[in-house]
Amino acid sequence: MSRQKQDWFLTRKVADNIYLTTEEHFFEFNRCNIWLIKGPTKDVIIDTGLGVCNLKKHYEDRGLISRDASRPSEVICTHVHFDHSGGAHHFDNVFIHELDLPGLKCGQQVETLNYVRQGHFHRDPYPGFSACSYRVPSTDCQPLTNGDKIDLGDGQYLDVMHYPGHTKGSIVLFYPQAHCLFTGDFVYDTGDGAGLLDWLPNSSIRSYKQSAESFCEWLSTHDVNKVYPGHGSILTASRTRQLLLQYLESKDEFCGMACATCLRVLSTPYFRLGCFRCILWC
Ligand SMILES: [Zn+2]
Ligand SMILES: [Zn+2]
Repeated sequence: MSRQKQDWFLTRKVADNIYLTTEEHFFEFNRCNIWLIKGPTKDVIIDTGLGVCNLKKHYEDRGLISRDASRPSEVICTHVHFDHSGGAHHFDNVFIHELDLPGLKCGQQVETLNYVRQGHFHRDPYPGFSACSYRVPSTDCQPLTNGDKIDLGDGQYLDVMHYPGHTKGSIVLFYPQAHCLFTGDFVYDTGDGAGLLDWLPNSSIRSYKQSAESFCEWLSTHDVNKVYPGHGSILTASRTRQLLLQYLESKDEFCGMACATCLRVLSTPYFRLGCFRCILWC
């Protein structure tokens, strides 16, 4: 395990060829897990964090990705939200599901969610930083679709699986040779699966329910040892399934559905108007 304590980013090895990077000085609840897979001939970075510091340079400085074309690297964003896509513009080869692509390509405020407050930074990422001017910039990116394979070299690959609900273009990546999954915000440990976020501006409760049901079926027929989520701790397949079943159960209750539906209606103007940047915080 390696640690760089003074850096904005903290990177540690979690498996033979998989690294986890986090932004330790940012609000834990929105702190994204950034995964780096060092494949046989190519490196793939899954999600990029906020983009307030340069993740590409961080990896290059530590020899984790190549500075030249001798060993290619690609970025895959599991979805368009700022905590996952904000740093993608620092990289050359960026991929995102086709339904989330327009929001990242144009740096749209609502699509990217852009939920950043000054109080969420325990330390300024650089001198003079202001959360008020934070934006996900327009980012050059290419589309992914369900069933695409990301080649890692020597017969290894990632399978792209589309599971909409959290956003329209949310994806899960399956790495069959390592028996692991990268789930983004589709499923992570919220304590109780009822807390999974289906009420954001571009969420769909109906799609999320369908995705949760079909993913639980998929899990029951595949050999998965580790689940690497978009936030929080690494999960087992059974814990992942439990969280999704809890989510589905919560939507069977009238209150659960009504609450999510109301929040969903209110969330679009909330994010469009930037209400989250209230005077107390910024
Ligand atoms: Zn998200
Ligand atoms: Zn997230």
